[in-house]
Amino acid sequence: MSIHEQKNWARELSKAVIDAKSMQKLGWIDTNTYNKSKDLKETFDFRVPNQFKEQINKHPELSDQFVPSIKELDIKEAELNDPIGDESHSPVEGITHRYEDRALLKLSHQCASYCRFCFRKYKVSDESFNLSREQLNAALDYIENTHAIREVIFTGGDPLSLTDKKIFPVLDKLNAMEHVKSIRFHTRILTVLPSRITRELCDKLDSLDKSIYLVVHANSHLEFSKESDSAIKLLKRSGVSLLSQSVLLKNVNDSEEKLKKLMQSFMERGIISYYLHYPDLAKGTSHFRIDLDEAMQLVSSLRSKLPGYAIPELIIDIPGGKGKIPAFSDFLNKTDNSKWHAKSPIDGFVTELAYQND
Ligand code: SF4
Repeated sequence: MSIHEQKNWARELSKAVIDAKSMQKLGWIDTNTYNKSKDLKETFDFRVPNQFKEQINKHPELSDQFVPSIKELDIKEAELNDPIGDESHSPVEGITHRYEDRALLKLSHQCASYCRFCFRKYKVSDESFNLSREQLNAALDYIENTHAIREVIFTGGDPLSLTDKKIFPVLDKLNAMEHVKSIRFHTRILTVLPSRITRELCDKLDSLDKSIYLVVHANSHLEFSKESDSAIKLLKRSGVSLLSQSVLLKNVNDSEEKLKKLMQSFMERGIISYYLHYPDLAKGTSHFRIDLDEAMQLVSSLRSKLPGYAIPELIIDIPGGKGKIPAFSDFLNKTDNSKWHAKSPIDGFVTELAYQND
């Protein structure tokens, strides 16, 4: 698809599937789920952009990631509101500053689609958490005055669910800060709403003096469309470096074949494999987790199937905000009584992992 044929992303988003009745009509949910849809929507909102609706209809196996399930109402004892401890490292609203050299900037908690396994579902989709003008100014002041920050990471929510009018002034301010050397976006938009990657956005990214990284969140090779490919080409032509980010999800990508196809789909698009997250202990997500041993075996099995640069790092976010660790490292150890101990890369504190899966 050429840029001239590109869909209007705001229109696609305004026509998103956001209610249980439409999902039932589309055959995405059964009566049982429909009857529980009020509780489900209150727990975590629903949204699938119009553009991506066709992708789910074409590949129904994608629906588990986006369509609510009554399993979300089963909350395990070990599950947490804020599983990765964002709040304990937040000096001002909108900023999470866990590691010295980089900080997260969360402008909005809205997304183009709401992934049912989301680790920030306690805030994501709730508009009341979006930053006010004063809060945004305070967040930017914090970055400006903290010279150790070399990289600003736009996350949220999905930063690219915001309009250019909201993002561009923030980019201009960061561009003027000499100590900030790179800007990174974590986004789901490349597959669920690729029309958001407009020429105007790419020109803006190209005009900045900083290195720009964009981390593409996708969990199945079936998510990519022709529109995704056009968007990826535009970004690459604008000098944006592309990395991958996926979540290892039961019944979505928990086989060697599916994971291999996913990594190949990144590779053939020039996206370097980066993170494969073991699912965090977000409330109502146990049906998405497989055992950690099994997860490690799966990733090991890719070693003979893919070149090294296409093998992602299996990552565990230690509950309580103790940081991310690679599963294959000295930071993770199995004890004699088959328990996992994770050592924080931030303060060396050891946490016993207590995942509860279905
Ligand atoms: S796009 Fe990211 S932040 Fe938004 S719902 Fe999905 S996983 Fe959560």
